[in-house]
Amino acid sequence: MMILKLINSLFANFCILVTFLYLSGMLSKKFVVAGRSVSIATRVNAGLLFGLFGMILMCYSFPVGPGSYANLRHLTIILISSYIGWLPALICSVLLAISRVLFYGVSYSSIAAGVSLLIIGYCCCWISILPWSRLRKVMVSNLISMGISFVTISSNLGSLAKVMEFFPLQLGITLAAGLGVYYIAEYIQRSNELYAQLEHRATTDYLTNLNNLRQFHRHMDTEMARAERRGNSLSMLAIDIDHFKVINDTYGHPAGDAVLKQLARRLCNHSRSYDIVSRNGGEEFTILLPDCPLQQAQRAGERIRAAVENDRFVLPLGKKVHLTVSVGVASYPENIQDADGDLLCQYADSALYAAKNSGRNKVCVANI
Ligand code: GH3
Ligand code: MG
Ligand code: MG
Repeated sequence: MMILKLINSLFANFCILVTFLYLSGMLSKKFVVAGRSVSIATRVNAGLLFGLFGMILMCYSFPVGPGSYANLRHLTIILISSYIGWLPALICSVLLAISRVLFYGVSYSSIAAGVSLLIIGYCCCWISILPWSRLRKVMVSNLISMGISFVTISSNLGSLAKVMEFFPLQLGITLAAGLGVYYIAEYIQRSNELYAQLEHRATTDYLTNLNNLRQFHRHMDTEMARAERRGNSLSMLAIDIDHFKVINDTYGHPAGDAVLKQLARRLCNHSRSYDIVSRNGGEEFTILLPDCPLQQAQRAGERIRAAVENDRFVLPLGKKVHLTVSVGVASYPENIQDADGDLLCQYADSALYAAKNSGRNKVCVANI
């Protein structure tokens, strides 16, 4: 009967832990993006969150003897140490140790259990910095934790025979649960990475890392709606490299690509932090200038045109070339009365066309 209850309890712990993993996977989508380092604030929050998860798991413990409880709370320390690092593991284990004493009262067994949680946390911190695979970290941490639990439970119950009645089963279930949550955590982690990659690819131009056309339209809609709501202006610069085909024809396509990348960087450097720079296709770029009236946008366009003219672009074989760009400028509400993004694009394009037709390397403003 006791064995059945132990299995029930650990199974409930496993199910709750899986739910928590799913929830933290949803949260980490926003904070822990693959390849990026995790901020201290996120580490601390992760430690607090997994500490809370461990406390909830403790509420579903099964009493294996006076003052001794079986549960999977230590897996929260193991998981957070293997996936995020030592700091959240430390926070999580301290929280669990304190709550163990608070939940079950100050007694020898509570203090022994609290200390064993601190030792587990300490071991996990060390293991987390080893150059091991995550699977190895989870399995070794789990084995060490179960060893520490074995010592604690044995000292609480005072009889090895009593402990051996249930401990082998508890050990088996806990190791299997550790393996199970590891695979689920890996799946969630991989899904989050793929989601982040997909989102990046759907919104970013692969060559320049600027916004792509789809993202440009999204920004245009948002910024236009904001400008209309607040009664602000919104300007747009349409920028096209002059005779870009010559670069490709003379130096090859890779040289053209290098020029596009350098121009993208320079457009960003010459823009305000909240301007929206995009590559709308080929050698055509746009900059959306929120809260910027027509005259100011014309000056910004002129600054960019002059900067490109005076800069040199380095080709892959080291040769440096000069380039020029033509710029079309249009603004809401100076050019268009209705807050219509497509119309603003049309006006900026016609201004660019005028700049091309009047000799290139020019900034032209759309007709009012
Ligand atoms: P204009 O002054 O009238 O704008 O002349 P242009 O040569 O810049 O314009 P045109 O439209 O005739 O040629 C644009 C060229 O841009 C043609 C195309 O091969 C090249 N191009 C488009 N996308 C890319 C790209 O991703 N990489 C490279 N290297 N070239 C590209
Ligand atoms: Mg061109
Ligand atoms: Mg073009």
